[in-house]
Amino acid sequence: MSDLLVVNGPKIVAIANQKGGVGKTTTTINLAAALAEFGSNVLIIDLDPQGNASTGLGIELEDRANTTYELLLDDADLDEVILKTAVEGVSIVPSTVDLSSADMELIANEKRSFLLHDALRQPAMEAHEFDFILIDCPPSLNLLTVNAMVAAHSVLVPLQSEFFALEGLSQLMLTIREVRQSANPGLRMEGVVLTMFDSRNNLSQQVEADARDNLGEMVFQTKIPRNVRVSEAPSYAMPVLEFDSASKGAQAYRELAQEFLKNNEPAEA
Ligand code: ADP
Ligand code: MG
Repeated sequence: MSDLLVVNGPKIVAIANQKGGVGKTTTTINLAAALAEFGSNVLIIDLDPQGNASTGLGIELEDRANTTYELLLDDADLDEVILKTAVEGVSIVPSTVDLSSADMELIANEKRSFLLHDALRQPAMEAHEFDFILIDCPPSLNLLTVNAMVAAHSVLVPLQSEFFALEGLSQLMLTIREVRQSANPGLRMEGVVLTMFDSRNNLSQQVEADARDNLGEMVFQTKIPRNVRVSEAPSYAMPVLEFDSASKGAQAYRELAQEFLKNNEPAEA
């Protein structure tokens, strides 16, 4: 399948939810690591000024001279900003707190919504032969997130299995609809993935039932369980797949990657 995807360029997925702490960064890092385990070549774009994806993959601050900020606002070449991580098959464009001013600076820019779209379509992209680009969005529906949605083919939404989880979704869906109408008519919903799921907790079950009732097929079959190894891995600068390969969290992200790959198989003739 790699060959087929490369012909059309990498598939670009924005990982978004304007709520913080729902598992966007965790899903970005571990879905990337799992896809890489299955043989894909993956690029992560760290679009959050907090830089958690960069830190979680062991990118030191002194190695972040060229970041998403330079890619968006200083016309940096792709080759200047892409770093290999310690995880085989996973590269990253890191971010720093500098990106927090980008939202304001973007407003004045005529191409404000298209900067990431254009940056990812530089001719230099082809030689990297990425299969997938995962964009780790900030916890906001600001211009940075809009840039991700304009650049992307699809949006993947981590949904924390907690009370109020579904409340913010209508706002997110509205933003997706606006982006479709204005800039990216082909933008699709990749799916909603339940994160931090606790099967012994009634509330988790309730959130799952509500999500499946309201969103149907849009919800991934795979659920990511709450698992302490998942939350420990970033402080060791590793995906949980490497930190504790046999953990429930690692297994779940492998399952998610398989479901994701299945959904992205080229349609049969
Ligand atoms: P976001 O990027 O949406 O702000 P994070 O991915 O940073 O969210 O997750 C928020 C916190 O929850 C982090 O401390 C992370 O380690 C923890 N976490 C995420 N997923 C899980 C999980 N499946 N089990 C346990 N802890 C998790
Ligand atoms: Mg995050």
